[in-house]
Amino acid sequence: KKYVYQFGAGKADGDRTMRELLGGKGANLAEMSRTGLPVPPGMTITTETCDQYYKNNQKWPEGLKEQIREGIRFQEEQLGAGFGDPENPLLLSVRSGAAASMPGMMDTVLNLGMNDMVAEGLAERTGNEWFAFDSYRRFIDMFSDVVMGIPHESFESAMQKLKDQRGVKEDNELTAKDLRDLVDRFKAIYRRETGFMFPNDPMEQLEFSINAVFGSWNSERAKKYRKINKITGLIGTAVNIQAMVFGNMGETSGSGVLFTRDPNTGENKLYGEYLTNAQGEDVVAGTRTPEPIKNLKKALPKVYDQLEEMTRKLEKAYQNMQDIEFTIQEEKLFILQTRNGKRTGPAAIKIAVDFVKEGIVNKQEAVKNLVTTAQLDQLLHPQFDDKAIKDKKVIGVGLPASPGAAVGKVYFTSHDAEDAKITGENVILARVETSPDDVGGMHASEGIITSRGGMTSHAAVVARGWGKPCVVGCDDIVINYKNKSLTDGNHTVYEGDWLSINGTTGEVVLGQLPLKPPKLSNDFKKFMKWVDEFRDMKVRTNADRAEDATKAKEFGAEGIGLCRTEHMFFEGERIVEVRRMIMSDNEKERRESLARLLPYQKEDFLGLFKALDGDPVTIRLLDPPLHEFLPHTEDEKKDLAKQFGISYRKVKDRVAALDEANPMLGHRGCRLGITFPEITEMQTRAILEAAIEAKEQGAVVLPEIMVPLIGSGDELIDQKNVIKETAEKVFKDKGTRIDYLIGTMIEVPRAALVADEIAPHADFFSFGTNDLTQMTFGFSRDDIGKFLPDYLERKIVLHDPFQTLDQKGVGKLVAEAADLGRATKPGLKLGICGEHGGDPESIAFCYKQGLDYVSCSPFRVPIARLAAAQEAI
Ligand code: PEP
Ligand code: MG
Repeated sequence: KKYVYQFGAGKADGDRTMRELLGGKGANLAEMSRTGLPVPPGMTITTETCDQYYKNNQKWPEGLKEQIREGIRFQEEQLGAGFGDPENPLLLSVRSGAAASMPGMMDTVLNLGMNDMVAEGLAERTGNEWFAFDSYRRFIDMFSDVVMGIPHESFESAMQKLKDQRGVKEDNELTAKDLRDLVDRFKAIYRRETGFMFPNDPMEQLEFSINAVFGSWNSERAKKYRKINKITGLIGTAVNIQAMVFGNMGETSGSGVLFTRDPNTGENKLYGEYLTNAQGEDVVAGTRTPEPIKNLKKALPKVYDQLEEMTRKLEKAYQNMQDIEFTIQEEKLFILQTRNGKRTGPAAIKIAVDFVKEGIVNKQEAVKNLVTTAQLDQLLHPQFDDKAIKDKKVIGVGLPASPGAAVGKVYFTSHDAEDAKITGENVILARVETSPDDVGGMHASEGIITSRGGMTSHAAVVARGWGKPCVVGCDDIVINYKNKSLTDGNHTVYEGDWLSINGTTGEVVLGQLPLKPPKLSNDFKKFMKWVDEFRDMKVRTNADRAEDATKAKEFGAEGIGLCRTEHMFFEGERIVEVRRMIMSDNEKERRESLARLLPYQKEDFLGLFKALDGDPVTIRLLDPPLHEFLPHTEDEKKDLAKQFGISYRKVKDRVAALDEANPMLGHRGCRLGITFPEITEMQTRAILEAAIEAKEQGAVVLPEIMVPLIGSGDELIDQKNVIKETAEKVFKDKGTRIDYLIGTMIEVPRAALVADEIAPHADFFSFGTNDLTQMTFGFSRDDIGKFLPDYLERKIVLHDPFQTLDQKGVGKLVAEAADLGRATKPGLKLGICGEHGGDPESIAFCYKQGLDYVSCSPFRVPIARLAAAQEAI
């Protein structure tokens, strides 16, 4: 029976389909090897073997040992090394790996095969005694901990003791001789704890380790993990035994990391860095400065060529840009790890377009897999306005780690950055360098700057992944955590001061530079064309002004899903007329004010109809409580009284009369139109007269009048009657007719529940999920900031429900309303115009509910298009 599957030298017994038998890791290693990648040779002991081991009273089945020996012989041949041979030792890593990922089931044992003789041999071969004995002591520690269960702390404290005795602080201040001493002390601990000598025989070390991996399958923590994660039906874990390779064997060895394309621009060239005579961790540790990968071409041309060829193979195999860790051992190249590489938005677009051009993926695959909505979002972020940049004060230039412009107030700790963000500030996080502890603060920031670190430093990699502008390694400036300040020697910037950073050039600039909208590349346009080929749900925009609508149309909007007419009321002299209307206590005066407002509204609508030529325009009747339009301070009220020539007392009384304890649940939405039908009349007239005029000027108009905040069929019927009567009057006045729709928002929970009663009177439903969320949760839209941080932190909600639709509750109402509506009126047009219309996860939900369109703010239109296409593929 076959217990052991080998891989290496461009071959493998297994492949990626054999997860059940080889575990996830084993199947992946086999596949990489099969693809022709020079992975260090190794073998995988099957999960069935683990099963048999347990059935067989924890004894190895007949033949397993021979197969393992055979596997080791293969590895020895491949590397020209010998297991336990001091001249040129083969060292192994041993790892568990089940079919389902179970992180933390068992840790890895590295450098297995080490003993006194081997350590001496390794010291000689690498010319690095320190390294050899450091590896040795690490091995004893790991083996004892992972295999024998001796707490790691025992070794830690022995090490601390030795450091104290030598009077040194850091591990690397110990000498090679100290490390030899430490190895003996570690062995003594092993003996004390187990009663045995530390095993010298590599084969014995391996047997122990394999049994420990088998044993870890039924450890308490593994069983618990499986229970919590509902992992059932697996028979055991596989064991992966792989040769260690060393990049520190002299000048023809080295280690590096690279991306197969430039992760900032997407340019098709190797991007990365390496170090000769170094191990992988040296490259990221930053103790020596790595060299750019192109230098390898001169140093080891054959290896470089091989690396280039490898990247092409990898991109084909994984159909994605790859991020690779490699080691060169005496001119022999090994790929240790490959995974999809993080990249910026512009890079993602270029790579997607190039991959299609190069025939690596087809258009559909490119749209589905190669650009995320978050990456697209980055492209739509603003840039610095070049004209304004003439007299800028650059206080430092670092590495341009992640492109784009960011301005904000500077903070020096993650915690402070997060706090400032919650109060609504735009934040720049400044750190000497970042660590995983900082991700909260980084996420809360518009941009990040560090004074230390390279293009592959933590800050660079994380920021790039999120598409946040980032400048790293800016050593022109000194950051002082204690003072909460940074300085270039001439200027000092304190916490809360404005700072601008340019992640494209690496510049750090004093103050708040102006931003301008981004420029979109031809690749972007090409990619978005492909997106639309796979999309069937429409994307509209929420826009109130012609210029926003035009912008949105450029971004691909196919109509206006929501024009909030009240926004127009606040502009210029209109607010005066609006206030005059509200202040009047009789219908006649109100009508006079409304008549003066009509031309303004009509002009705005005319602009929208002309901009949207051929696409539908949904205009919503007045929604907010009238109180919102009135002045609030005493001074303002006095001014108003003077302006209108009425008494201050009258103004005060009127304001007080309109005051509501709960305005969001008060006199707003269709309730206004029901009390003051003349408002609905004026707005209907403005909409239809504008439409007729636009049509006369040659535009194709598709007006849709929307009634907000209804909760019953009768509310809609009331307003519909006003609209229809007004329309007939307009048509008669103008001597012409046009087609128009009357629909309603579904944003009160009751409306969703009685959608079958509403649908007969509506041409369309548009889900107003802002109010629907507010009224379903009972969370005030305007006050949720007070308690949301606590809710998020304690996981009472997993995300802001005003950002990402709550599918369980609010979504249920949407689904119910859609079903009831369409059951009553087949083909009823359905859309969404709440903020969720621009959120990818919520868009996916809308698609599943069969909505005809989503509507979102102009800058989110491309994101919505991509989200809709990805969901449809
Ligand atoms: C909504 O409630 O979802 C909506 C779009 O309307 P507004 O945000 O204007 O209340
Ligand atoms: Mg609303």
